[in-house]
Amino acid sequence: MHIIIIGNGIAGSSAARHIRKNSDHVITMFSDETDYPFSRTALMYLYMGHMKFDHIKLYEDWFWAKNRIKIIKDRVNSIDTTNKIISLNKGDNISYDKLIIATGSKSNKFGWPGQDLEGVQGLYHLQDLESMEIASEKGITRAVIVGGGLIGIEMAEMFHSRHIPVTFLVREDSFWNIILPKEESEMVNRHIVAHGIVLKLGEELAEIKGQDGKVKSVICKSSGEEISCEFVGLTVGVSPNIDILRSSGISTNRGIIVDEYLRTSEDDIYAVGDCVELSDPKPGRLKIEAVWYTGRMMGETVAKTICGDQTAYDPGIWFNSAKFFDIEYQVYGDIPAIIPEHITSLYWQHATENKAIRINFDTATESVTGFNLMGIRYRHAVCEKWIKERTKIETVLEHLSLANFDPEFFEAYEGAFIAMYNQKSGKSLKLKARRKLVMVKQFLIG
Ligand SMILES: Cc1cc2nc3c(=O)[nH]c(=O)nc-3n(C[C@H](O)[C@H](O)[C@H](O)COP(=O)(O)OP(=O)(O)OC[C@H]3O[C@@H](n4cnc5c(N)ncnc54)[C@H](O)[C@@H]3O)c2cc1C
Repeated sequence: MHIIIIGNGIAGSSAARHIRKNSDHVITMFSDETDYPFSRTALMYLYMGHMKFDHIKLYEDWFWAKNRIKIIKDRVNSIDTTNKIISLNKGDNISYDKLIIATGSKSNKFGWPGQDLEGVQGLYHLQDLESMEIASEKGITRAVIVGGGLIGIEMAEMFHSRHIPVTFLVREDSFWNIILPKEESEMVNRHIVAHGIVLKLGEELAEIKGQDGKVKSVICKSSGEEISCEFVGLTVGVSPNIDILRSSGISTNRGIIVDEYLRTSEDDIYAVGDCVELSDPKPGRLKIEAVWYTGRMMGETVAKTICGDQTAYDPGIWFNSAKFFDIEYQVYGDIPAIIPEHITSLYWQHATENKAIRINFDTATESVTGFNLMGIRYRHAVCEKWIKERTKIETVLEHLSLANFDPEFFEAYEGAFIAMYNQKSGKSLKLKARRKLVMVKQFLIG
């Protein structure tokens, strides 16, 4: 059986690896971006000089040939679902028995005047990083970044690392406050400003002005201010990259519509990763979840189904992590930006450092529903187990040390968190567990 995979990102390459683990099928994977899969989440570290491209490859180059996964660098232009053939940019037509579409996302552009000028771009593909590099070498006296999300703040950090002044236009009145609760969002606002970034909250882009085909300034919508700049980063979200499907007959909406087995509307064609729109997501989950780990899980799931073990996609407990300059952020479970009425949210924040712990629980049942960590690392497996098992908040608090992954000062933070709870509730809970690895292991097995 010949399996073709379009896209060598985390979703496509996870599918390839797991198909190989489970079968001897012939696997060919196409990418129009790179010769070998790499970690997109680490792109910023190339620009910042912390890593070279070889360091962010998912595996060493020999891995793919050794595992008989053929990677071809070419663009797939179209899919003929009737004859089961894909057409390549270089002209070849290749037939498949099963096809996996893993084409990822593309940066959004919302039709702003001037958005196609030189010096205006998003950050998604390796080629975007290359053009950022070229623009930086030519000289940027100011970069304006539009859009207050994860990629925007990464771009701000990238320019900051090269001492390039940045103005950050964020439409919301606090950074990423559609996802982060108020306190965490405000912590990030302060942290951005502390880095010397000009943060303009509640501000949008009206227009990009150019000269000789290149960007020369932006006009802000609310204030009407004109900001001179040689670079505009458009980081206003991403959308599924599904342009090649337009005339294929495969059902699409915002993304490629798939069922729980990640099957598209056409026989023997599956889709995984950022390009997917689930027709019937699990309660509390979105139809499109453009994050690294969902791509990896979808890749693994589709591999099982293709190899004969039909498996439904189960996204598990929500998890994500990111970095806001120096503040590491992790979320496990459900931490809505606006706390619903039936949820109690316990929040502790360090008096002087950018560190915070939030734990949400259901007020009626007392079972824990989510963890938000800023500047402190908690163990994924421990938090996930507590959420899955609907563990009561006080049991979690007494054993909170088991979750802490940081080598230093753990007593202070967990102790401080419990003290805050005791003060609010009038109780006198104490930390029971110690953060010894052996205890963590026992807890996870037990
Ligand atoms: C700067 C940045 C930082 C991020 N940080 C985080 C983070 O901290 N945490 C997190 O969870 N997520 C993060 N993400 C999101 C995460 O990287 C994506 O969710 C994930 O990489 C998507 O994987 P994928 O395999 O679905 O698609 P992609 O990684 O986009 O791979 C798809 C590949 O298919 C190729 N392709 C598309 N069409 C064709 C075609 N017609 N022919 C051939 N090849 C094609 C594309 O060029 C691309 O190489 C970040 C993204 C960016 C851009």
